[in-house]
Amino acid sequence: MKDNILINEFKMQFPAISINESYCRKVFSSFVSLIDPTVSELADIRTAVSEAVTNCIVHAYKEKGGTVYISGKYYSDRTVKITIKDKGCGIPDIKKAIEPLYTTDTSGERGGMGFAIMQSFTDKLIIRSHLGKGTTITMIKKLQ
Ligand code: ATP
Ligand code: MG
Repeated sequence: MKDNILINEFKMQFPAISINESYCRKVFSSFVSLIDPTVSELADIRTAVSEAVTNCIVHAYKEKGGTVYISGKYYSDRTVKITIKDKGCGIPDIKKAIEPLYTTDTSGERGGMGFAIMQSFTDKLIIRSHLGKGTTITMIKKLQ
């Protein structure tokens, strides 16, 4: 088996407020930029991160605060691992939640496309969630 060695990592946490969506995107951008992604790889990661963080703010904590925990890792084979975690309400039915166009939003502002975007812009999306305890989203992307 080929060795896949952890090269670099970071961990951060911040308040679940909307200003931190772009902050978080910038943090992941600069972290991933250390291994020279293509413009499109970087754009994919930025978009996927935004979707995951927005979900923490608007769904997990219902815009009432809370903490978002993020971590990034990259490995010697240029695999990037992104983790975005909340301690919010949890997702009752993950299978349903990832269906394109499925949303619990009633304001008409959300399209139910966040998970579909995370899935298509990364190589692997893992969702772990427990009702009343929170949700952890892990996204894996292998760069060229
Ligand atoms: P869009 O992302 O297009 O604005 P959306 O956020 O409703 O709309 P998804 O991101 O695909 O769509 O999420 C689908 C549903 O899963 C949400 O409507 C919400 O009910 C639930 N959900 C997603 N993330 C979380 C989370 N971190 N905690 C609790 N529920 C979540
Ligand atoms: Mg969403």
